[in-house]
Amino acid sequence: MEQKNIAKPLSEPFLHLKKQKDLLFSTLPIQQQLLARYKKLLGNTRVIDLLYHFPLRTEVREAVYTLNDIYALLKKNPKVLMSAIVEINDYETPKFRSKSLRIHAFLDDGTPVKILYFNGKLPWIQKLYPLGQRKVITGTCSLVRGVPTFTHPDYVDFPSLFKLYVGSFPVYPLSAGVSQAALSTTIKTVLENYLPDLPEWIDPHLLEEYGWPSWREALLNLHSPTSNKDLDPSNSKSYQRLIYDEIFARQLDIYHIQRKSRKLRGKSTAKNTTLFEHLKKILPFTLTHAQKNAIEEIYKDMHQNNSMRRLLQGDVGSGKTLVAFSAALFALESGFQVAFLAPTEILARQHAAKILPLANQLGLKLDLLLGGKSQNKDGKKARQRILTGESQLIIGTHALIDESVIFQNLGLAIIDEQHRFGVDQRLRLIEKGDNADMLAMTATPIPRSLQMTLFTDMDTTFIKEKPAGRLDIQTSLLDKSFLKKVIESLGRHIEKGGQAYWVCPLVEESQNLDLAAVENRYSELNKVFPGKISLIHGRLKSCEKDTIMQGFSKGETSILVATTVIEVGVDIPNVSLIIIEHAERFGLAQLHQLRGRVGRNSLKSHCFLIYDPPLTDTAKSRLSIMRETNDGFLLAEEDLKLRGGGDIYGTQQSGYAIFKLAHLSRDIHLFHLARDKARLHISTNVKDSPQLLLLRVIFKKYETDDYIKAG
Ligand code: ADP
Ligand code: MG
Repeated sequence: MEQKNIAKPLSEPFLHLKKQKDLLFSTLPIQQQLLARYKKLLGNTRVIDLLYHFPLRTEVREAVYTLNDIYALLKKNPKVLMSAIVEINDYETPKFRSKSLRIHAFLDDGTPVKILYFNGKLPWIQKLYPLGQRKVITGTCSLVRGVPTFTHPDYVDFPSLFKLYVGSFPVYPLSAGVSQAALSTTIKTVLENYLPDLPEWIDPHLLEEYGWPSWREALLNLHSPTSNKDLDPSNSKSYQRLIYDEIFARQLDIYHIQRKSRKLRGKSTAKNTTLFEHLKKILPFTLTHAQKNAIEEIYKDMHQNNSMRRLLQGDVGSGKTLVAFSAALFALESGFQVAFLAPTEILARQHAAKILPLANQLGLKLDLLLGGKSQNKDGKKARQRILTGESQLIIGTHALIDESVIFQNLGLAIIDEQHRFGVDQRLRLIEKGDNADMLAMTATPIPRSLQMTLFTDMDTTFIKEKPAGRLDIQTSLLDKSFLKKVIESLGRHIEKGGQAYWVCPLVEESQNLDLAAVENRYSELNKVFPGKISLIHGRLKSCEKDTIMQGFSKGETSILVATTVIEVGVDIPNVSLIIIEHAERFGLAQLHQLRGRVGRNSLKSHCFLIYDPPLTDTAKSRLSIMRETNDGFLLAEEDLKLRGGGDIYGTQQSGYAIFKLAHLSRDIHLFHLARDKARLHISTNVKDSPQLLLLRVIFKKYETDDYIKAG
């Protein structure tokens, strides 16, 4: 019988790989109730997540049989870990609460040994150490009045398993509820039963040249290190191979995205410049040379038949918004809609407020689209206007990316502070048009070394000059004992009609504490400057935030106490003082962004970085670089040196934290290698082989959708 419309069965190699992939992505072979703990540790609970969870270091446990063995080891290193077999002889329960429970035991040569437990309960001890039995104990040992004493041994086990406690062992990063021993056991099971031998995806010449092991071998090696050297990413061949895998997978993704998204559109989105000429006439200032050049470059690109993929890089305050708005005018004049995406509501509202008067004068219809419940009703109407083409320029937050937003004719997507968005999000927006143009903007300068590897899918335009008359911001470092002086100087500043931001410390991993810090500071400053101060943080409702920002921007209050919600993009030119508390907790790029909130007019601006001593060496370098330079590009290079790239710009704050293993400065040669190989591959192959697809899937799992942290 003829069969129609039945999905084509997978061919043999695909079928085989699919089985292996399913194995890698299956749930860990552990008890159901432990899954939550593993999730906390690994981010997910699949086999692949555990396979890529590598030891931090190794530790060595030495076998001891006699008192002399113990003496000899302690002489070399008092912290050495020892494993011994002891026979349990007696218990001694504490007479006072403060004392510990002791177990008396003997080594096989008759040497007495003590084992101590603070807060030890006798029944539990009796079960763990039955009288007369032999046990393996392992841990550190010290001599108390000449008697070898183990305090809280790391492990206690049966003598037949002694060998398991002697030699070199991997030490894994842990989190609550997962012990080293339990983790090691799970890893052992997984390596034995869930680690397939995948077909090689790396060019055999490369493997030979660098002496790299296969994927499977590399994972096995990293989970059974014999010394710390085996775990050093710059030296271990296994690490190098896996790092290369990661970068190669990422580069392939980028090239595929590029191939997919940069199709021939067959029409240009910029033809006439009447609106732009009109804009220049109504602006209260003239464009800088850098802005003019940038606009020209963008115009040329939009005029072409290919869609534009352009990254506009310019330091904080260099006037990128206006360049983007000019690009918008080109597209609007050619009859297209323009989407303007901002990472926070504060920023979206600010853009709308600034652009509205210009748009009105130019006769353009503008819409603002924000997420959240408060927007439901308005949002529906706005989406309708977007669909019919009634609104021409649409400014919004990530709500713009939502499926419910359909454009009539999207020609250009502008993405402000693009490092706050993921590649996927950028694409989702431009795919709402028919090969729409994309102009992404960033004030977080990207060092050239990074630029080439992370953004191969984009061309770049630089703005290297700030509007005329901008002075460097003077930055002072003050330890927190100067707080009173700082408040006095803040008082003088606002007496003269000045305005200031007061940025409260970042409290790691806790928004609640962030909130407490900002509220405390607010109420204390409010006692000194009653009625002159307002407070903003991420927990406020969107309309409340708006009212506060509007009020502050109109000068109704003089001081704005804030969390990092004001970090990006906020533009209130009259503010010329920024005070940042606990400056040592912020990353360099973040400090530069925050500082960039001032210095936006022709007045001299000041930045006080208040820190809590003692400072670590890195924090010290960070803060002094901040004091020495205002140049964002220089700061970015320094940042790269200080942190290395894996965590560049602070993991949470940016979409750059897309590498789990690779480290941008350390592995730069691998980045170059992988980029070249990926480029070569893509230029000669239309499709990826099954094993390359699998490689890309393996690394997809690290991609988070968590790029947006709406203020
Ligand atoms: P950023 O590049 O940080 O996004 P903005 O676009 O917010 O900078 O611009 C910073 C400030 O400079 C804004 O208040 C803007 O109106 C102003 N500005 C932009 N271009 C010029 C110019 N050519 N001359 C004077 N001021 C300008
Ligand atoms: Mg901006």
